[in-house]
Amino acid sequence: MFRDGAVQPSSDELTVCNPWNGETVGVVARDTVAQLDEAIQGVRAAWRPLRPDRRAAILGQAARLIRARSGELAELISRESGVCIAETRKETERAAANLIVAATETERLRGESIPVPGQDRLALTKFEPIGIVAAITPFNRPLNQVVVKVAPGVAAGCAVVLKPSEKTPLTALAFAEILLEAGLPAENLVVTTGAPGVLGPALAGHPDIDMVTFTGSVHTGRAVSVAAAGKKILLELGGNDPLIVLPDADLALAVQLAGQGAFATAGQSCRGIKRVIVVGAAADDLVARLVEAARHKQAGDPLDPATDVGPLVSEEAAITVERRIGDAVAANAKLLLGGDRRGPLITPAVLDNVPADAELVVEETFGPVAPVIRVADTAAAIRVANSTRYGLQAGVITADVAEFTEIAAALRVGAVNLNAGPHFDSPHIPFGGVKSSGIGREGIPYSIREMSTVKTITLPYP
Ligand code: NAD
Repeated sequence: MFRDGAVQPSSDELTVCNPWNGETVGVVARDTVAQLDEAIQGVRAAWRPLRPDRRAAILGQAARLIRARSGELAELISRESGVCIAETRKETERAAANLIVAATETERLRGESIPVPGQDRLALTKFEPIGIVAAITPFNRPLNQVVVKVAPGVAAGCAVVLKPSEKTPLTALAFAEILLEAGLPAENLVVTTGAPGVLGPALAGHPDIDMVTFTGSVHTGRAVSVAAAGKKILLELGGNDPLIVLPDADLALAVQLAGQGAFATAGQSCRGIKRVIVVGAAADDLVARLVEAARHKQAGDPLDPATDVGPLVSEEAAITVERRIGDAVAANAKLLLGGDRRGPLITPAVLDNVPADAELVVEETFGPVAPVIRVADTAAAIRVANSTRYGLQAGVITADVAEFTEIAAALRVGAVNLNAGPHFDSPHIPFGGVKSSGIGREGIPYSIREMSTVKTITLPYP
């Protein structure tokens, strides 16, 4: 556990292994529920909201420290998650950018003055920190996923108790040290590590926790919302994002986006492209080009700068992806490239003619797979896109803006991007899902508001 400004010694430990070669990357404490309870009570007793200018200074300094240490952080992320170094270098910059936006937004957190008609009173509103926020984060992008919860927490003036994934806790601990070095008072941050089935429910349900923000799978998210019953909750859950390609699409763009969105982070991204839905005759050309693009992706050692696709987070995860590919092929999909498994590694796969009801595309498949689903018309594309329980983001490739707006209105998702993939991202815009993909919105300015409460003050005013 990281508390009182440092990692505390522990006799009961958990080993963190590199998914690529099994080497030990580090050890962390296996905290008990009693230790977690004591730490949360300590935060409750000591925490006082910081002044907004101080929050902004801490966040800005943390961004500078991340940039200064981006090389070592990127290597740590790659070693504990298996994500290739070419991507983890970008992740550190993305984390720094999120911190800078959080710093800027801190000083923009302003309320309103509302004249109350007929009562000679004025109402003033102000944002106050919601209190102590429990943040539970997933294994993929272990730095940025932590930053997008802790940075808005600090910006809102909250204290945060973070429980990172047990698969990738070392990056979270490194970030906690950076925040303290940047000036965050020790009582504003606790990081608990250990067995998720024990710590997760204890944290989410703790009476001194005011809000729970969770990112992870639908299955765990539902357990968290039960444990957190009665508290404010934000859930960022799984995705099954489609890239919809219309007959008039710029195919070069569609292929470029499909290649990025399906294979980045070895396909382990909530907003990665999980389905390529192609309307009409463009499919033959698109599939041929996608196979060529995927052929050039190099799969292997995550620390090799030439690697595009590292291993999955575990061999177990890779076995699930391999089985789903096999099942899709048994249901008449054509495997055109890749899909070979070596331990936790899956080579980038392209499948054509995937039936819309294959598990590969009905469930969220966290692997480097581009499944192409052919449909006859736009109505069928919308039907297929909406047919799963997920509703995170979508991308549509077309030159026809009028048709795009109709599709955008019909898709049940949190965001739709024209001539960009579902993975389009900015710290300034809202992010979150509908249906089983989540509740509430992240995106730094939106998270800050989720982690704030509005206090209204009224006073006599002629
Ligand atoms: P996961 O659900 O297995 O774990 C997420 C977190 O929950 C981890 O910290 C884990 O230790 C913890 N946890 C496990 N059991 C728990 C319990 N009983 N109570 C409380 N916490 C518990 O998810 P994962 O495999 O780490 O991450 C992959 C999933 O996350 C995918 O479904 C992906 O789409 C999703 N994800 C969503 C977003 C988004 O913003 N929508 C972003 C990234 C990842």
